[in-house]
Amino acid sequence: MTASGPARALAAWLALAMGVALAPALATPAGRDGPRYVHAGRLLADPADGRVLARMTVVVDGGRVVALREGFVGPPDQVIDLSDRFVLPGLIDSHVHLGHENGPDDKLLRTVRTPADLAINGVRFARRTLEAGFTTVADLGAENEAIFALRDGIAAGKLPGPRILAAGNVLSPHGGEGDLFGYRDDVTRALQRPNLCSGADDCRRLVRQQVQRGADLIKIVATGAVLSDADAGVDQQFTDAELQAIVEAAHALGRRVTAHAHGAAGIDAFLRAGGDAIEHGTWLDDGSVVLFKRSGAWLVPTLLAGETVAGWAADPASFLSPAAKAKAASVGPAMLAMARRAHAAGVPIAFGTDSGVSRHGDNAREFGLLVAAGLTPLEAIRTATVNAAAHLGLADQIGRLAPGMAADLIAVDGDPLEDVDVLRRVRFVMKAGVIHKHHQEVTCEAGEFC
Ligand SMILES: [Zn+2]
Repeated sequence: MTASGPARALAAWLALAMGVALAPALATPAGRDGPRYVHAGRLLADPADGRVLARMTVVVDGGRVVALREGFVGPPDQVIDLSDRFVLPGLIDSHVHLGHENGPDDKLLRTVRTPADLAINGVRFARRTLEAGFTTVADLGAENEAIFALRDGIAAGKLPGPRILAAGNVLSPHGGEGDLFGYRDDVTRALQRPNLCSGADDCRRLVRQQVQRGADLIKIVATGAVLSDADAGVDQQFTDAELQAIVEAAHALGRRVTAHAHGAAGIDAFLRAGGDAIEHGTWLDDGSVVLFKRSGAWLVPTLLAGETVAGWAADPASFLSPAAKAKAASVGPAMLAMARRAHAAGVPIAFGTDSGVSRHGDNAREFGLLVAAGLTPLEAIRTATVNAAAHLGLADQIGRLAPGMAADLIAVDGDPLEDVDVLRRVRFVMKAGVIHKHHQEVTCEAGEFC
């Protein structure tokens, strides 16, 4: 945290004592009204052009970038000294699940955890994600109440975390991947959430209901999943008519739709229906590539999830069911090959990790996997900045540093264009002009409060 921690704590206490909302105190760091001058030893302001400039000053004010200036300028008491570091825009992960981390007890936990428990998990995981350099995320699946409360609390400055776009409940057909499996009927009925639909009209209604409840975007499961007890394969689950109804209803209400999809038939059906992005894309084929390029849809490869579950499958003591284990073993290598093929063919890629499968805060491991799939380090950085911003509809606000853009920036030691893994050790994080990490490395072990 910042050097002004004690001052901020005092301001927060005073605010509470006086019955004043905390949000304004956090929105502007205590004692730091007015512009601040970030001295960047090297600066990658716009990953789209890829130019790295030496000795630059990023002037920020009111949560936004107001100017980029050559050289180190600004009054000394308003300077943030990153003159020995490499500065770039805050990173964007367009596929996380901040409410949980997968583990052996998931099936039991589903019967005892409440949305409040998930929100409290999210408080911890959101902070970890932000301190790893990710200033914006899309949460693609958590109970509505939990994730919307977390999103709104962070946006109001009540707690630290990335800016969140939240899908809330994930839409699934009855009996599809988002349904429940393996419980007694009465338990299933008790646990059922309002996320299932059958038939075009019913699915249209469910999309509208999700938007009404507060969803920023719509997430559906278009095919079976890897970590699944359903043993229903990985192909199309919604009908073509249902997919068209979902996409139409979402677009009519100004929401994007992204789909969990592994098998080619499900990927292709969703793209033909006008869907905006595919999560995973594991077994996409040449026909899928044509559809991606024709529609301009984004691919979010989630290579880290593939690597993580393949690791579980290789563990003799794995908690995976036999059905899930067989799929998990093949998915890691398949995802790498898929990303290589898609990238070589020119499919636009946006960064997403599916964190929650992997541990929150490890998000930047995805960069090395993207490079292993054939992207250059700069191309990998683009996926998590300008590409993800465009994919999420925020290209005019985040993803690059220029006047008017959010003052979201991070700093690392070394040069991420030479070694992309330096992004796994982010030294400085600023979100909307507020410093959340400065020159300290936080290493979180299981059980630690970080
Ligand atoms: Zn996911």
